Amino acid sequence: MENLLTVSNLSGGYYNQRVIKDISLNINRGDFLGIIGPNGSGKSTLLKLLTRVLPPQSGMIDLEGRDIFSLKLKDFCRRVAFVPQDTLIGFAFSVWEIVLMGRIPHLGRLQLEGRKDYQIAENALLLTDSFHLKEKNIDELSAGERQRVIIAKALTQEPILLFLDEPTAHLDIAHQIQILDLLKRLNRKNRLTIVMVLHDLNLASEYCDRLLLLSQGEVFRQGRVEEVLEYQSLEQVYKTLVVVKKNPITNNPFVFVVPQEKEIINRTARDKDNKRR
Ligand code: ADP
Repeated sequence: MENLLTVSNLSGGYYNQRVIKDISLNINRGDFLGIIGPNGSGKSTLLKLLTRVLPPQSGMIDLEGRDIFSLKLKDFCRRVAFVPQDTLIGFAFSVWEIVLMGRIPHLGRLQLEGRKDYQIAENALLLTDSFHLKEKNIDELSAGERQRVIIAKALTQEPILLFLDEPTAHLDIAHQIQILDLLKRLNRKNRLTIVMVLHDLNLASEYCDRLLLLSQGEVFRQGRVEEVLEYQSLEQVYKTLVVVKKNPITNNPFVFVVPQEKEIINRTARDKDNKRR
């Protein structure tokens, strides 16, 4: 397996607050890695560190063997794209203008986009099923449409590594599946390496090959989906009762939550059920 990104003893956060504490991980080319963990565990902060949005307090991040901070920002952006959680676009740009902005890292100073750039942008719009939105203003779109366009812009960068922070937040189940199916296709067909933060453990289970479970800024567990989505770890980190079974169609782990009110009764039932899987 070809190593793409190596993170060694990474710590970072805001001002002198340390949020991410001494994290080490490897991302191989072609990986589809999900980052999960409770609110405030540091998922977004980790993504910001890995995408150069935040400078680390200590530790190293190497992309293809080179410290990411030794790369020119433009070179970094030709390899790595980031779809943040809330993309605020202040001006009323059209979808086409936004998607073309993805070409900026590939253009020389004052160079205008050419035919090849238009083709790449068109292709990204087609891939994300948003070509028909080309002429619209970004602020005229629904949440799902806007998310597809932002992903199209990231694809126009032609990255080898794509980071996404909660790409399916605010989307209904059909649109969640549409976005995640698209990412899976890009991962499988184009061998695009994907690292995404996901809130929903069951979506993470269905789509990711590997998971990293964060707890209070540290890696609690990382590995294959079934190694990480395991009830004792989830209960310890999320501090709530769960039962882990299998999705009857895909056989991937499926996490059920158990209401807290009748905790004693449910604790016994959940013990029995977790063993029965
Ligand atoms: P998650 O994505 O897992 O919900 P975050 O990375 O957003 O967690 O937050 C982790 C911690 O960092 C929280 O304690 C949060 O208050 C703090 N934090 C997040 N963003 C900022 C910021 N811009 N400035 C200061 N502290 C922040």
